[in-house]
Amino acid sequence: MLVKKTRYDLRGKIGLIDADLLDNGTRHPNLVIMKLSGYFKEKGCEVELIENYTIITNNNYEGIKDYDAIYISKVFDFTEIDENILKFDNVFFGGTGFYFDGGEDLPYEIEHHMPDYHIYDSFIENDTKHKNKNVYWKDYIDYSIGFATRGCFRKCEFCVNKKYDKVHFHSHIKEWLDPERKGIYLWDDNIFGYSKWKEVFDELKETKKKFQFRQGIDIRLLTDEKAKVLNEAKYNGDIIFAFDHIEERELIEEKLKLWRKYSTKGTKLYVLSGFDGQDEKEIESVFERILIIIKYGCLPYIMRHKDYEKSPYRGLFVQIARWCNMPQFLKKMTFREFCEANQAHHKTKGTLCSSMKALNDFEEKFPEIAAKYFDVRYDEQEYVKELKERRKIMK
Ligand code: SF4
Repeated sequence: MLVKKTRYDLRGKIGLIDADLLDNGTRHPNLVIMKLSGYFKEKGCEVELIENYTIITNNNYEGIKDYDAIYISKVFDFTEIDENILKFDNVFFGGTGFYFDGGEDLPYEIEHHMPDYHIYDSFIENDTKHKNKNVYWKDYIDYSIGFATRGCFRKCEFCVNKKYDKVHFHSHIKEWLDPERKGIYLWDDNIFGYSKWKEVFDELKETKKKFQFRQGIDIRLLTDEKAKVLNEAKYNGDIIFAFDHIEERELIEEKLKLWRKYSTKGTKLYVLSGFDGQDEKEIESVFERILIIIKYGCLPYIMRHKDYEKSPYRGLFVQIARWCNMPQFLKKMTFREFCEANQAHHKTKGTLCSSMKALNDFEEKFPEIAAKYFDVRYDEQEYVKELKERRKIMK
């Protein structure tokens, strides 16, 4: 990959490319693109979001010369891009999609610039694919987006976030708050790893707006005070924690108990799958984590690491995710019932649907694991019943 020092002193016509948006599409706006737009507009430049590569690639890349500078930001490494574009002197690029650590930091005055929340307006207007644009593009339309803190000390193997050794202050909410927008999305990596987390919650309270930490919250760092403040906050949607490794079961259970002491709120936990292993032990670990999560009236959300594809049980990984990630299935059906329901809708008579096949194949090889988990019911868990009662009393 080409490495090039980025220049920010060029003025005139500036083209911005959100590479992920132009390739597979993404539901999240690119914060760097929004900050660059805000910065260059303030400098009097003509700023344009390039909505289609042909604008610059036609006629042997002639279009690139129409711009004084083009900045390309890419978050995902699987996003495809024509690398010839990157070779031009006036084209600069960055982001975790190009460099594992994200590459060079933005200069301070850009990093801390108010994002231009309207740079995507014309792209959204021109979108003819999605009928309900207000829902599909809600992250672009309804939310102020930013970081109160950055960094994380944990350095989990599967996470791109390895640049910093600790969580540190990044910006006050008002730096990037658009009072016109109804909500706030924070992209902080580990808010509870920040010693002054309470000050961030106080600032959020002052805005009177609903907010959400999009990367999830580290339940391992929960304390009585944190649980109380989080439960009382104007939080948008479910609280999301993570339960990545079964070895942490004792700590996670202790924290789930603590959380439920204060909160009856809808709570989800990401369950990383296919990373620690791809064999039957990993399948068992995923089911065991699901069991612990539902025991406390919370919902699992299965995240599949790409290594799950190497597994002889990859079909089962997919079916577990389908069962869990649509709460209406998990809340009403055991895993076995979910697979049977799929079989009932299977069109080719005399054959097994992929769910039933995955279940049968695994059960045949590992009957003890299947017996322990395939018939577990969410609505029979003690906490689920208790939560229902607590919620009724609160109404
Ligand atoms: S705790 Fe979260 S943000 Fe921190 S390294 Fe692990 S996955 Fe990444």
